[in-house]
Amino acid sequence: MANETARLPTVVDTLPKAELHLHLEGGIRPETAVELAERHGSPITAEEVAARYRYSDFSGFIEAFKWVTSFLRDPEDYALITRRLLDELLHQNIVYAEITISAGVMLRRMQNVEANFTAIREAASTVVYNRLRTAWIFDATRQFGPDSATEVARWAAKLEKSGVVAFGMGGEELSFPATSFRPAFDLARNAGLRIVCHAGELGGVDSVREAIEILGAERIGHGIALMHDPAFADSLATRRIVLENCLTSNLLTGALAKQTGKPDATIADHPLRKLLEKGSLITLSTDDPAMFHTDLLTEYSRAASLGLSKEQLLQLAEQSFHAAFLPPEEKRKLLEDFQTAARAAGLV
Ligand SMILES: [Zn+2]
Repeated sequence: MANETARLPTVVDTLPKAELHLHLEGGIRPETAVELAERHGSPITAEEVAARYRYSDFSGFIEAFKWVTSFLRDPEDYALITRRLLDELLHQNIVYAEITISAGVMLRRMQNVEANFTAIREAASTVVYNRLRTAWIFDATRQFGPDSATEVARWAAKLEKSGVVAFGMGGEELSFPATSFRPAFDLARNAGLRIVCHAGELGGVDSVREAIEILGAERIGHGIALMHDPAFADSLATRRIVLENCLTSNLLTGALAKQTGKPDATIADHPLRKLLEKGSLITLSTDDPAMFHTDLLTEYSRAASLGLSKEQLLQLAEQSFHAAFLPPEEKRKLLEDFQTAARAAGLV
């Protein structure tokens, strides 16, 4: 878990919560990485992982992601990291999580996507996790190019009946243009999958526009570049397009420094509050909790440090249910539970 002493409690701590932007592999805590490496006969120390989990820019983060995922070799490894992540989510009273799986990385390593996914799903459906509903997003890695993305979309479509709800794309935003990924996203959409895309993280407003207009994104991963174009941000809110903000991630990857033009940017420079007050629809997430030394409670605590009111924190928490890719009935039930808990806690 993140350093608990650094975290101040917030009104959402005890409420049931949802998290929508969360990478399975980014949840590998140092001790789990040590265990995986040991299992495969290439021992590492927790200190080495801690050193790898420190970055000064986005490519440093990508390198660390590549390194830690190199210890994921078979389905049982994926089952293990799933259990560890879900344990953390339960501990924070997260009742619904959409977890992103880097299927592009599995394909790159010539692994059996279906076998890995089956192990993940089975791990998540054990009785211990009854209180935690999970859904899965298959993610293409942008710098692997359009053919790899199309292959990921094919697998996502094939496993749509098994719990994959959406197709998305992350990685190096400035590597390939959005147009080259249109076939992959079209394939996914035609298979009935929902669409997400990382954009406006390191890229500009145009990257967000392309993710929506060309790829059909319904939710934008990060989208902090919208701080430069309030009118466009307004138009997204009108179209019910949601921004998945991840405060600590943006700080540690250097995305915040890049977007603000301040090399020494801090969380206080994050545009979340301004965007929220201008009407953007925003959810709060950890992105890669282990790799960014955070968890969802810490992200809410950091949001509170931006000066968000109790009502605004509740608004973020509730938005995570509204923006979920769930059937309407299930969504209504989770929203009712959230509102009941907020009332019982005297928060509304
Ligand atoms: Zn992400």
